[in-house]
Amino acid sequence: MKITDIKVTPVTVPMEAPLRWSMGVETGTTRAIIEVSTDEGITGIGETYGGNAIEHAIEAAKPYILGLDPLETGILNHRLGVFCIGYETAVPAVARAGIEMAFLDAAGKALNRPIHSLLGGAVRDRVETAAYLFFRYEGEGGIGGESTAEEMVERTEELISRYGFRVLKLKGGVLPPKVEFEVVRQLQKRFPDSPLRWDPNAAWSVETSLQVLRRLDAENIELEYLEDPTWNLEGMSLVRKASTIPFATNMCLVAWEQLAPGIQMRSVDIILSDVHFWGGFRQNQRMMAVCDAFHLGVGMHSDRELGISTAAMLHLAAASPSLVYAIDSHYHDQVADIITQPFQYKDGFFDVPQGPGLGVEINWDNVEKYNRLYREQGQVNEFYDTRRPNWVPALPIF
Ligand code: MG
Repeated sequence: MKITDIKVTPVTVPMEAPLRWSMGVETGTTRAIIEVSTDEGITGIGETYGGNAIEHAIEAAKPYILGLDPLETGILNHRLGVFCIGYETAVPAVARAGIEMAFLDAAGKALNRPIHSLLGGAVRDRVETAAYLFFRYEGEGGIGGESTAEEMVERTEELISRYGFRVLKLKGGVLPPKVEFEVVRQLQKRFPDSPLRWDPNAAWSVETSLQVLRRLDAENIELEYLEDPTWNLEGMSLVRKASTIPFATNMCLVAWEQLAPGIQMRSVDIILSDVHFWGGFRQNQRMMAVCDAFHLGVGMHSDRELGISTAAMLHLAAASPSLVYAIDSHYHDQVADIITQPFQYKDGFFDVPQGPGLGVEINWDNVEKYNRLYREQGQVNEFYDTRRPNWVPALPIF
């Protein structure tokens, strides 16, 4: 079987309410829906970050992938730039990820096997997911608007009763650390049996991070992990030396060339895998092998994936024995999906798809609808908050 064509359709799907984070606001998600055609009439689908740059990158990749067998993901990765990182000819990791996803979907369909089977086999048939807790601006119909500890506890109660979550993750870096500390304190008091993570997306200075750690210690608050309290490998390494809490990252160590320095500097304890950031299933598997060798933990990052990417995350999670933490997902914050049977949480878990390939089908009506929205509104820009353009959260606080 040979790849004969590749096509990209961008979509924008809104959030129920705008999600706040340290560098801006997420009002929705812009994604690229990828289709690869083959000479046997099988079409593989993939999904990755959307927007002009990605569309151009995939178009640029086209001459290098036509004629490949969809199982030839090693050649695909080699040709598209894993071994020429830093050169302008390299296709960005997130574009490679979407193409590889579509390749393996086509291969799985041809072989009548789910992708997790092609990745080495599933060690689990369902994947636990954390309750992703955001401070939200108020959306349509009065949804959202959380800005106090009481409101966040109430939102958490709602999510737990609706979806059965056990693990909690607070997206911080939005309000002054002192205010967020109180939210963390109240969450742990109200849900003492729930592992709790806190992710300020590198909003704090080294000094602020050290103050937060001292306060957590003084109040006997044990987090499951603290995610990216401060920025870059050096900052994380400085703070981590003083921490008894494990440090996780999806910011300072997100690419192959950062693994060696990050490990040498002992900047993190847990690397959050990501089908997109790391450049696909195979690159995540390579990264996890390094984590095994150096006794680093493995979790999984989320950044507003729709159903195709969510399926990919579940296949990777299913085939990753090293993954020991509940994965993140934005799924419950999005108003709609572009697959025919959207995923359902069961007791805080997603079932791993078992059909051939990714095991999901595209809902073309919704693709058309949200492609229209993309054409009307353009790409979602999450790196800005017009309501407070000069927000500087890194000042010392206590
Ligand atoms: Mg993060």
